[in-house]
Amino acid sequence: MEIAARRKGVSERPRCSRCGAVLSAYRRPDEPDDLCAACGLRQASEREWKLLDPERLVYAVAGLLLSAAAERPGESVHLQAVLERRYYLTDNVDVHGAVQKLRRRYRWKVEAEAGRPGYRLSDWSYEFRRARKG
Ligand SMILES: [Zn+2]
Repeated sequence: MEIAARRKGVSERPRCSRCGAVLSAYRRPDEPDDLCAACGLRQASEREWKLLDPERLVYAVAGLLLSAAAERPGESVHLQAVLERRYYLTDNVDVHGAVQKLRRRYRWKVEAEAGRPGYRLSDWSYEFRRARKG
């Protein structure tokens, strides 16, 4: 009875869309939504990785921080994981460099908690100017 109930529980868990394996309950948040770890790795190796030069990485990181601040205020965003999901090859040093440029050049207040991944944008200067006709 108990075994049957457990089996039922397993069969209701989400499955990998490629191989049908039951998805682990301990999946990392940066893993693809509908793939098991093995299929996620295989898919990642089949994709073409893209590189951003340091200046363009600053824009990409700025956009991600602003989006995260709009969607989930007060929460940290794991920038490297988000960029990897979009197949941008970066490491934590590149991402940290881009964050440092935002802090220094534009006085953006980007916070990070020691020992935890991710950055949180808490204050930033911006100006939206409406284009004038004519
Ligand atoms: Zn799979």
